[in-house]
Amino acid sequence: MPPKKHHGHTHADMLSVEDARDKILESFMSLETEELPVIEALGLILSEDIHSTINIPPFNNSAMDGYALKSENIREASYDNPIYLKIAGTISAGEVPNFQIIDGNCARIMTGAPMPDGADAVVPFEETTEMDKNSSKKSEAEIGIKIAVSVGNDVRKSGKDVSTGDLILKKGTHIKPSIIGLISSIGKSKVPIHRRPKVAILSTGNELLNPGDHPVPGKIFDSNTNAIIASVIEAGGIPKSLGIIKDDIKSLNHAISLAKSSDIVITSAGVSKGDYDMVKDVLSSQGELNFWSVRMRPAKPLAFGMLDSGTPLIGLPGNPVSALVAFEQFCRPAIRKMLGKKYTPRPVIKAVLQDTIENYDSRRVYARVKVWQENNKYLAETSGSQGSNILSSLAYANGLAICPENEQSKNYGDNVDVIMIDWPEEMMN
Ligand code: AMP
Ligand code: MG
Repeated sequence: MPPKKHHGHTHADMLSVEDARDKILESFMSLETEELPVIEALGLILSEDIHSTINIPPFNNSAMDGYALKSENIREASYDNPIYLKIAGTISAGEVPNFQIIDGNCARIMTGAPMPDGADAVVPFEETTEMDKNSSKKSEAEIGIKIAVSVGNDVRKSGKDVSTGDLILKKGTHIKPSIIGLISSIGKSKVPIHRRPKVAILSTGNELLNPGDHPVPGKIFDSNTNAIIASVIEAGGIPKSLGIIKDDIKSLNHAISLAKSSDIVITSAGVSKGDYDMVKDVLSSQGELNFWSVRMRPAKPLAFGMLDSGTPLIGLPGNPVSALVAFEQFCRPAIRKMLGKKYTPRPVIKAVLQDTIENYDSRRVYARVKVWQENNKYLAETSGSQGSNILSSLAYANGLAICPENEQSKNYGDNVDVIMIDWPEEMMN
């Protein structure tokens, strides 16, 4: 029996999403390392291990506002019979004590202040006569301690958090705010990371107008350029838009030549069947390009290859939803790999479908859905019409629900896997 044909493609010559992604990712490596001011490294990947050169805390210090003392001096202390100690001085955070604690003495000490020599514990104000209404202090120079404590009470030991020489962060760590705090806490102001890729973006099409231009009959506003720029930023790349490129050989050649100095080139449109073949011809003349059919809906047509400069190019389909779904599957992983991230899929959740997803030609369907939580379950409903030109339904979606290649539909009540493309707190209401 001859294989089923769809738009001139047999399933045999369609690539699975995974195979297409694997082939693409083979051509990308993590980019060179550079040192960045720690705050600019947010969201990037550490390219070297970091060892601490200091102890944290760097010195023994008080965990409470209270009195630093010798614990053995107050072994018999109680609420009924406070033990009175002489106050030898006060130590606030940032100071270095210039006196020692001897038997019968203590020091008023503030949170974070260094422990004075001779003291081995802190008793907080709350457990002293400090807080008493009708102060039973015998004099300003003395304080009554109401509880016994053991050695080390309310003392933060030097090196308890981190010790000199400790491996505190491994190469490959994703840099989030608490990591930036940890790096800063050891006194480092710069960190080694893989640099962000420069991503050239060019949108082809004689029909395109820039948003802000006056509408013209027969033309449409270019939504792909801005949506791709935003996606590149979100993925961690630096977008370099070359703007709208006319469907003519000269304009396209010129744009590609400008794009070659980037780490990756992303084009939109001109790669599908029945299109102006010129985009394909120009791409082919500038390097080794392949034109694939990927077994997915939306976003079947995809171009991928190397320009003769060695710059990889991903050619996205022109339909706005196809462009963004293909970006999600292929460009985002490539950008993340250049940043030094291992390939990991977005979070996928199980949701109960509230309507129907059709799959009429055995591709993998990525249906735009809105996911929300109800009674400890995730529910998903399609967010509008599923045509690859219907951008509003992608804009209203927070997930892509999957109907696998070998299933003809997913129906009301079915469990579906949903790729959460957007999962801020607001979407869960
Ligand atoms: P193509 O891949 O060139 O055949 O384009 C497929 C469809 O996507 C056509 O309807 C185009 O008008 C549309 N399209 C192409 N580029 C863009 C763009 N940058 N913004 C919005 N729609 C586009
Ligand atoms: Mg076109």
